[in-house]
Amino acid sequence: MDYQSTTPVDPRVVGAMLPYFTEQFGNPHSVEHSFGIQAQQAIEVALAGIADVIGVSAGDIVITSGATEANNLALRGSLPTGKKAHLISALTEHQSVLGTLAALKEDGHAITLVTVDGDGLIDPEAVEAAIRPTTRIVSVMAVNSEIGVIQPYADLGQLCRSRDVLFHVDAAQGFGRVPLDVKRNCIDLMSISAHKIYGPKGVGALYVGPAARSRMRAQITGGGQQGGLRAGTMPTPLIIGFGEAARLMKEEETTEVARLAELRTRLWTQLVEQIGGVHLNGSADQRWVGNLNLRFEDVDADSLMLMVPSLALSTGSACTAGTPEPSKVLRALGLSPEQASQSVRIGLGRMTTTDQIDRAVALITDAVGRLRG
Ligand SMILES: *Cc1c(COP(=O)(O)O)cnc(C)c1O
Repeated sequence: MDYQSTTPVDPRVVGAMLPYFTEQFGNPHSVEHSFGIQAQQAIEVALAGIADVIGVSAGDIVITSGATEANNLALRGSLPTGKKAHLISALTEHQSVLGTLAALKEDGHAITLVTVDGDGLIDPEAVEAAIRPTTRIVSVMAVNSEIGVIQPYADLGQLCRSRDVLFHVDAAQGFGRVPLDVKRNCIDLMSISAHKIYGPKGVGALYVGPAARSRMRAQITGGGQQGGLRAGTMPTPLIIGFGEAARLMKEEETTEVARLAELRTRLWTQLVEQIGGVHLNGSADQRWVGNLNLRFEDVDADSLMLMVPSLALSTGSACTAGTPEPSKVLRALGLSPEQASQSVRIGLGRMTTTDQIDRAVALITDAVGRLRG
């Protein structure tokens, strides 16, 4: 029940990866011999699979170690050299963006974090009002990792394009799940993570479009691989797995959305029927179907999770876990610290079954009843 934190690697993805650990181990940059050429050609196919999901070509994909590195490359790599710039993002962004922006602020760059409404959505007018002559980039998540809401990235893209500001989308949660055609949505940069789409951990990508490419500088320098944007030998097995995972996301997107919508509705209606005082955090309709962020009145979420150790529930982002503070995202929606501490995130995915949903309902209902009692 925690698919926003990570996903299992699909067995079909594992199968696609295996030969590239052993027989086909060539260095994809050693194109003087057939071992290298085989690896390079396999990577080309994988990159095309990733690019296809967002309507771009393989040459626009820069492989990274994950979405955290992709976010760093997008934000740091697009800054003008030797000048201070202004960057815009939102209070509800992922820690890999917020932490990077905080570091850039220490370096003297100016940062604006816009607020969100009670549904967790960004108002494009607030972003427009924040744009200055020095604004270099606007960075926004497609699908929020805690509350699952889908931000108005199409409107934001058009706005940024009209103001000659780069538009970066952190699509770790959105890739293959919501329509993210890069050209239609005027997206210049997009971060992707393989382990959120049933691929391996340790690999991701940054899409770099034409407007961004001329302004980008590598953050990992060395041998000039990947068009000079990210040096280092490309991890062939991980990329093959990433490509296969992306291909499967696209192939199965429509049926998977319908299946998850059914499971989500089953979970939600049973919980509401069996437990009073359950509230949904974040927009009800602008939402990825695989996420429910729920608040149980008079129930401390940490106590709830302790009572259901067999369920993988979460109070928020794994990347800030360990911090006992209530979620910053929920606070930005206007929830009090107490309300935020009563909230849990539930994530459904490819391997979630009806039986698991029913067991989760039974366990949560029982635990909430005991805690309230
Ligand atoms: C998981 C996640 C990241 C970080 O991705 P890694 O590949 O784990 O570095 C960044 N942004 C969002 C929205 C995420 O969900």
